[in-house]
Amino acid sequence: MGSKLYLIKEGEISLKGGNRGLFEKRLRHNIKDKLKKWNANVEKQKGRLYLHLDENADDDVVRKALSSTFGITGFARAYETEKDIEMIVETAKKVLKENPFGKKGSFKIEARREDKSFPLSSYEISLRLADTVHEMYPSLDVDLKHPDYTLHVEIRKKAYLYTDDEKGPGGLPVQTAGRGMLLLSGGIDSPVAAIRAAKRGMKIDCIYFHAYPYTSDLALEKVKKLASLIAPYLGGTRLYVVPFTDGQLRIKKLSYPDETTLMFRASMMQTAEKIAKERRASAIVTGEALSQVASQTLDAMSFTDSMTEMLVIRPLVGMDKEEIIKTAKEIGTYETSILPYEDCCVIFSPKHPVTHPDKAESRKHYDALEMDEEIDKAIANMDTYYFNPLGEEEISEV
Ligand code: ATP
Ligand code: MG
Repeated sequence: MGSKLYLIKEGEISLKGGNRGLFEKRLRHNIKDKLKKWNANVEKQKGRLYLHLDENADDDVVRKALSSTFGITGFARAYETEKDIEMIVETAKKVLKENPFGKKGSFKIEARREDKSFPLSSYEISLRLADTVHEMYPSLDVDLKHPDYTLHVEIRKKAYLYTDDEKGPGGLPVQTAGRGMLLLSGGIDSPVAAIRAAKRGMKIDCIYFHAYPYTSDLALEKVKKLASLIAPYLGGTRLYVVPFTDGQLRIKKLSYPDETTLMFRASMMQTAEKIAKERRASAIVTGEALSQVASQTLDAMSFTDSMTEMLVIRPLVGMDKEEIIKTAKEIGTYETSILPYEDCCVIFSPKHPVTHPDKAESRKHYDALEMDEEIDKAIANMDTYYFNPLGEEEISEV
């Protein structure tokens, strides 16, 4: 077992009754899988997860990894020592050296004695450690109600010390709620939609429709970059790149000009459904938000929905662009999303797109395009990329 320790707080999973065991097992698996290069080991003690890693684990990478793992509400780098007050004091000094308090303000010692055989009470432990803090930070005051800094000590199987918790993302562990296929474009919205769906436990893989040379290789690189940025939240993700130039050209040539976007979206749904079925996914996820653009009216979405029997989930449907942008910034995709490489929708966009299509009428128009062959050809020629739970591209896995 490794010697670097993190304490992790689980979220809502503790409320999930009969499923609780499964959820916890999945969370433990997701954490271990993400940090396996440092031999991650996760054990549970009294409502907390104890993550042990090799001593050389990179703390910045571990922090990023934990703050993007759904199911975690908080975590802290912790230090383990024997249940001996002198050793606890020495460890406290080390903790405060590595995670220094500020020079001004107030602090508190939060001591918990689960092991009642430990000879000092929590109060006595607190007094002793408060002296230690005072020696190192003579200008800090004690404030038990609203301290700026807290040093925690817990006496359990061993003694554990840590400073303040960092926030985790909450939610439920991915892969506890089935699989979804995300339509990932290069825009701001779809990466956020992925995170929203994953937050409720869905396992997400991504599909990107590429229309080279109308959309450049830079656009593809941008989508790959977005996939790598969201992969940590998704517990790793596959990106299927569907070469759809011929499909797009066929639509442009044969459909009514005002309906090209609608027809493209219909063919995207059909293609996504085929890929999803082959890979045992049971939902399609998109970054659409109501009334954001012409194709995102209720009538247009209702038409595209009718192209698939699969559940279509639109996690952003009730979000303002401002809110979406805020989340995109938080998850770190915004800067990449606003890079100026056009996606194929823009290039093939009509000047006056239909906003309220008649479902039956548009269906007839779509069927007349006879897209099946193009769709099958595109799927046969698609490329697959894999991004692991740390966001690194891995060549080997397909
Ligand atoms: P985004 O910011 O996500 O690109 P948008 O506001 O630009 O969305 P649209 O271009 O109409 O809106 O796309 C709506 C949704 O359709 C996207 O969020 C995405 O889920 C899907 N989509 C659009 N273009 C593509 C594409 N080339 N490949 C895969 N999915 C796409
Ligand atoms: Mg877009």
